[in-house]
Amino acid sequence: MALKVMKFGGSSVADVEKIRNVARRVAREYDAGHDCVVVVSAMGKTTDHLVSMADEVSGGNPHPRELDMLLSTGEQVTIALMAMALENMGKSAISLTGRQVGIVTDFVHSKARIREISTERLSQLLGERKVCIVAGFQGSTENDDITTLGRGGSDLTAVAIAAALKADVCEIYTDVLGVFTTDPRVVPGARKIDQITFDEMLELATQGAGVLHNRSVECAKNYNVTLHVRSTFSEEPGTLVVKEIENMEDIVISGVAFRRSEAKITIRNVNDEPGVAAKLFTALAKKHIQVDMIIQNETLNQRNDIGFTVSGADSAKALEVCEALKAELGGSEVVCDRNVAKVSAVGVGMQTHVDVAATMFRALSEAGVNILSITTSEIKITVLIAEEQVDRAVQTIHDAFELSKTA
Ligand code: ASP
Ligand code: MG
Repeated sequence: MALKVMKFGGSSVADVEKIRNVARRVAREYDAGHDCVVVVSAMGKTTDHLVSMADEVSGGNPHPRELDMLLSTGEQVTIALMAMALENMGKSAISLTGRQVGIVTDFVHSKARIREISTERLSQLLGERKVCIVAGFQGSTENDDITTLGRGGSDLTAVAIAAALKADVCEIYTDVLGVFTTDPRVVPGARKIDQITFDEMLELATQGAGVLHNRSVECAKNYNVTLHVRSTFSEEPGTLVVKEIENMEDIVISGVAFRRSEAKITIRNVNDEPGVAAKLFTALAKKHIQVDMIIQNETLNQRNDIGFTVSGADSAKALEVCEALKAELGGSEVVCDRNVAKVSAVGVGMQTHVDVAATMFRALSEAGVNILSITTSEIKITVLIAEEQVDRAVQTIHDAFELSKTA
């Protein structure tokens, strides 16, 4: 018999009927003899709704501690209802908050990191053959204040509990069949991936594939927790995320991810001297601005252009930082292009196939997509392009590597 952690996202528990549906699914696993820990999100769009109420009463600036207090209530509703639904089916179940399962985090409200999980209570309850229903997305500090793990953080709760309990599998139930080669809304021929490595999944999640929270993939990788991403509404197997897969090198590209709303900010004609990049990126980091690509041009007459990309949401803050530093760096002007997007091809096979970049760039050029800048890692090639060309670029790369074909 297996020890399973099963996580159900907001769309899987959006109303009472859906909660009953999930309870039936859990009951089946329980009846088959498995030990089940069920991690749930808040119902439907509850968290969004709570955030907007908080903004309303606080003038858009809620106190971080109180915001976490509020947001944690969403998951609490779901756990109680889920436990009741299971009890009603004659299964012994108990709901538990993050605090009650001993999820201890640091003190950073709204993006807390898990420090430790004590498994005692869970293990004891599982030993009594109870289904344990755990509130996702929340923990508590050593001072007993409630924290949340960042939006989408229920995935992380599930993976962390699976790691702590050494569960056999962590199943992430969602409203799609698994991880796809790209977003099927953009490429109708996108295919469900049967197996993918942690490293590829991490790149895809970080580069914009919405199906898994990237910190949860990182955690799964660190603790070697097998993830199974699958649909709540289907019996079909989904996507296994694992350390290694057979014939790994035969798969050149596993998937294509994209982010539409990026911004590219450039300071023109800065001095060509040591310390310019250090000053700029230190100032950005101090404002907690996550810089993505960095673009520095060839020097001309002792002047340089230095640029970088950030998410659209961070662009106003980043512009302020650049304007404030412009004079000190000798720059002549700051320009911001808000109509850029990035598209990434990800695959472990890249390391052993020399022509991947060439194939990708050739295909894009034949499709008339202009590349503004490029970054790469061992298993990823990312291009920055005009936002209106995203769909075409994604389709083009998907075709170039024949991702619709089954492996
Ligand atoms: N309810 C939280 C959110 O909407 C956590 C989650 O769903 O994973 O972000
Ligand atoms: Mg979610």
